[in-house]
Amino acid sequence: MTDVIIIGAGPAGLSAAIYVERAGKHALCLEEKMVGGQIVNTPEIANYPGIKMVSGFDFSMGLYEQATELGAEVEYERADRIEEILNDAEGSDGDSSRYFKVITQSGKEYEAKAVIIATGAKNRHLGMTKEEEFTGKGISYCATCDGAFFKKKDVAVNGGGNTALEDALFLSNYCNKVYIIHRRDEFRGEPKNLEAVQKKDNVEFILNSTVIDLKGEKSLEAVTVKDKITGEEKDIPVSGLFIAIGQEPDNQGFKNVADLDPAGYVAADESCRTKTPGIFVAGDCRTKSVRQLTTAASDGAVAALVACSYIG
Ligand code: NAP
Repeated sequence: MTDVIIIGAGPAGLSAAIYVERAGKHALCLEEKMVGGQIVNTPEIANYPGIKMVSGFDFSMGLYEQATELGAEVEYERADRIEEILNDAEGSDGDSSRYFKVITQSGKEYEAKAVIIATGAKNRHLGMTKEEEFTGKGISYCATCDGAFFKKKDVAVNGGGNTALEDALFLSNYCNKVYIIHRRDEFRGEPKNLEAVQKKDNVEFILNSTVIDLKGEKSLEAVTVKDKITGEEKDIPVSGLFIAIGQEPDNQGFKNVADLDPAGYVAADESCRTKTPGIFVAGDCRTKSVRQLTTAASDGAVAALVACSYIG
């Protein structure tokens, strides 16, 4: 029986693991893909207090080393669901007899006194017919991972948040031409990021426009965009499209133990408690208005300390 199972080893999950271990309890992180979560793909983090500049990869590795050197374990398993076990055996005394079973996709079962859900969020897809077929053949969700394949080529980035702006800036260093296709003429991303992109000669903004078709035989050759104001449709020849239109949560497997809001985020207040005593939630997968690296780390600390105090 582990003290605390943490589902997800991104910034929220690994911060929670650090705090659990420092509180003298044991943390086991279950991670579906790779430690660090989405931040691992961010070329430069420049807004984490106390660190002027660090790559997402180095930041993630630092978190991982800090957590594991303190004693936390990481297993590469996708947690599918959580079962609450209430032990009614004679002599059991309230919450001390309650524990949780986390069942993974591969069928493994792990037991813990408390669970922190820190699943983050996954890349949102456009939902187009050829999107899946062309993934890895022109369609990408990660400019830092795949940008180098598009050296000297024309590419497009779809989205208006920080990810899209940072992707465009990164790609402008490699590619011949970068189009930013955004559905509005205002950006959700930080003005500093926008200004940096606007200074690039090889970046062209296609605003108030949406991608309505992906064209190509064996790989992406062009995207069709529609201007929302004029209704005009045109093809833009590109060999790459980087989709950066935000994230979606992945919490459906946990709705038996935690309430989800209409968008699928886990409902919890600033103490990170869910409706089930012993189940906590931290980071981007929680209902909140600001999703930043700092807020993920902060949630991890809060959830860990409240979970450790719950265990007693
Ligand atoms: P985001 O901030 O949610 O932005 C998503 C963008 O995609 C928005 O511009 C949105 O348009 C657009 N969009 C959403 N659904 C769409 C659809 N179906 N079709 C076309 N466009 C669509 O996502 P993000 O940029 O991935 O950032 C996620 C969070 O991470 C944010 O809090 C962000 O600040 C943070 N982040 C921070 C850094 C950093 O600080 N270095 C780097 C990356 C990300 P509308 O604006 O019209 O809604």
